[in-house]
Amino acid sequence: NHLRHVESMSLLPSGAGKISQLNAVVLGESIASEENDLVFPSKEFSTQALVSSPQQYMEMHKRSLDDPAGFWSDIASEFYWKQKWGDQVVSDNLDVRKGPIHIEWFKGGITNICYNCLDRNVEAGLGDKTAIFWEGNERDVDASLTYSELLHQVCQLASYLKDSGVKKGDAVVIYLPMLMELPIAMLACARIGAVHSVVFAGFSADSLAQRIIDCKPKLILTCNAVKRGPKTINLKAIVDAALDISSKDGVSVDICLTYDNSSATTRENTKWQNGRDVWWQDVVPKYPTSCEVEWVDAEDPLFLLYTSGSTGKPKGVLHTTGGYMVYTATTFKYAFDYKSTDVYWCTADCGWITGHSYVTYGPMLNGATVVVFEGTPNYPDSGRCWEIVDKYKVSIFYTAPTLVRSLMRDDDKFVTSHSRKSLRVLGSVGEPINPSAWRWFYNLVGDSRCPISDTWWQTETGGFMITPLPGAWPQKPGSATFPFFGVQPVIVDEKGNEIEGECSGYLCVKGSWPGAFRTLFGDHERYETTYFKPFAGYYFSGDGCSRDKDGYYWLTGRVDDVINVSGHRIGTAEVESALASHPQCAEAAVVGVEHEVKGQGIYAFVTLVEGVPYSEELRKSLVLMVRNQIGAFAAPDRIHWAPGLPKTRSGKIMRRILRKIASRQLEELGDISTLADPSVVDQLISLADV
Ligand code: ATP
Ligand code: MG
Repeated sequence: NHLRHVESMSLLPSGAGKISQLNAVVLGESIASEENDLVFPSKEFSTQALVSSPQQYMEMHKRSLDDPAGFWSDIASEFYWKQKWGDQVVSDNLDVRKGPIHIEWFKGGITNICYNCLDRNVEAGLGDKTAIFWEGNERDVDASLTYSELLHQVCQLASYLKDSGVKKGDAVVIYLPMLMELPIAMLACARIGAVHSVVFAGFSADSLAQRIIDCKPKLILTCNAVKRGPKTINLKAIVDAALDISSKDGVSVDICLTYDNSSATTRENTKWQNGRDVWWQDVVPKYPTSCEVEWVDAEDPLFLLYTSGSTGKPKGVLHTTGGYMVYTATTFKYAFDYKSTDVYWCTADCGWITGHSYVTYGPMLNGATVVVFEGTPNYPDSGRCWEIVDKYKVSIFYTAPTLVRSLMRDDDKFVTSHSRKSLRVLGSVGEPINPSAWRWFYNLVGDSRCPISDTWWQTETGGFMITPLPGAWPQKPGSATFPFFGVQPVIVDEKGNEIEGECSGYLCVKGSWPGAFRTLFGDHERYETTYFKPFAGYYFSGDGCSRDKDGYYWLTGRVDDVINVSGHRIGTAEVESALASHPQCAEAAVVGVEHEVKGQGIYAFVTLVEGVPYSEELRKSLVLMVRNQIGAFAAPDRIHWAPGLPKTRSGKIMRRILRKIASRQLEELGDISTLADPSVVDQLISLADV
């Protein structure tokens, strides 16, 4: 049956658009020979899917590149525009040699993304449909809102904001945990044309202050405290400290609207500054449940968001309204094969781009039912996610490899004791997902039934760039597969020459797509230098990538992290996934260290499965694993036992810190304040010589 599927692919016309590498996949032979690596969607899945064959994908992708204006206009027309965009759907300059980088989509079109998420859906009859299922930190604490109720709450807050003097174009900082008030706050800002800047409510006062100083908000939205797992975090105290720091820098914020989160603390225990601080519940419910929409230009800014800072100082990424709206809605719909009956859960926090595009905007533009979870995936135990899946009958579950790996460390019974039969599609984002984690996710969590959308994208790209369409293509564990509609990834060599066919190099993008960021806030020069100057004529992602003989894309990690061993360029992802395929290894992170003979040697930090002790024998078998899977040249020179790894608050490994530990440059660790748990650094240093 699979082979027949492959054969029918080989009947496709060879002119599959500009993405010539895709032609490789239609040569049935190569696929058949690698059949073990291919995971096909079931016939039932493909038949009901929005895109159900490679051929259908290729036709749509070809059209999206041949006629981007027509392709995206057709989709944009499904939304409400107060006034249609001008004649030019897209205008861009992506070549620094031709002048300033400049991107515009649907310029002249007048719309509002909040209206399209809420009012439009309510008018279409979805008023009584559940918009949000909210699950609290504790098992028995939950709530929900229909689309009508959500609209009312958004309007009340929007009316309050307006009344407090927030105007179109003003910045508003949101420092809230995953309460329903967080998406409500984002939508309320969008409704009145204010520019929201969500700061993940796990950041320190310093990090928050930095961002406040950068965007100078009129108002900040927060809550007094939150419970995360067994811990209580006093967010208001962090905000107070941040506002002290920022006012010393000359940036003062007039209003701090504070949600009273009574499940975590009391008003009496919350420090208060009269005149500045206002209780949300005291003012917002008094406002009317309708609020006029501020109609904005497609190119008016929607939000400002800082990147997660894995590679250094976070960048203030600016997204605008129209293109972002069309792009997030479309990517959500196709990459998850969305159906109106789905219940969708993305575990990301709204403090990250994933929470912007795929908790709030993308799903709500589609009128989807979204689960918002306040707590953590291993509280009270490692079965919490699957408990929630069963409770709300979640059908699409989107998460990050770091979560998959952390749950893998624990007993499988935490998964198997829950039914999970509502699940239909799984998703992954944030880092390359190593094949062993992919297989665990696929086989165990999804009962070998649910395709995995391994979505490659960035804060900068606004939405998915390379992603499976779950019903269209057979998947390869660990590969993000093929480009989304309108996206032309290219792999270039050091000199910036495009390389065709099977190859590896620097991942760039040619041309523009509607969800692209328009600038770095207040620093267009850094925008050009970071993204458009390294390889003139292209957008440079900063990631390394290879393309196999079937045209599948494999992300290999940050190019800054590439290790050069005796002239072999080795991506971190490859070695890490070889180590992680060892049954006793839970997670690994590798970095390069200076090596007298080889130039660079491979230094591996390894976290073991719960309860497994370190031993010399285990060390040897880990090294052997890499030798066997990749080759002797990639064998780690050093294994460093790591009970925990330094990660950003979004769960990504910070290799720049590991590099310093590996080369014992401990005085140069740099800024470690954005780490989720800075104490792992000391722990690693103390284990350096074990
Ligand atoms: P900074 O740019 O400040 O260092 P960051 O790059 O971690 O932070 P994000 O925009 O949140 O901030 O992350 C985007 C990056 O995450 C990508 O460039 C890529 O390295 C990685 N990534 C995301 N999804 C995937 C995926 N599916 N496969 C491989 N890598 C991924
Ligand atoms: Mg980045």
